[in-house]
Amino acid sequence: MFNNIKFLDSKPIETTTEEITEINTEMVTEVQTESSNIENNDMIVVINNLTKKYHKTTCRYAKSQNTRKITLSEAKEQDGIACLVCKPE
Ligand SMILES: [Zn+2]
Repeated sequence: MFNNIKFLDSKPIETTTEEITEINTEMVTEVQTESSNIENNDMIVVINNLTKKYHKTTCRYAKSQNTRKITLSEAKEQDGIACLVCKPE
């Protein structure tokens, strides 16, 4: 039996990998603003004949009945009330 072989190459395992890995998980959620704020009095709005409220054409309340499309300037002339949801002004 020749077990005199000394394993001297027992290197200390260097754990010097202290790299601070800053993981920036930025939630890049691009919120697409559908409401393009067009500062234009000739913007087409949808006015409710009963409530006199006028909405942007993209407003969900614009799809209700008793509405008609007019321009924003017309809606103001007719004492229309700007919708607080879509804010057509
Ligand atoms: Zn509205």
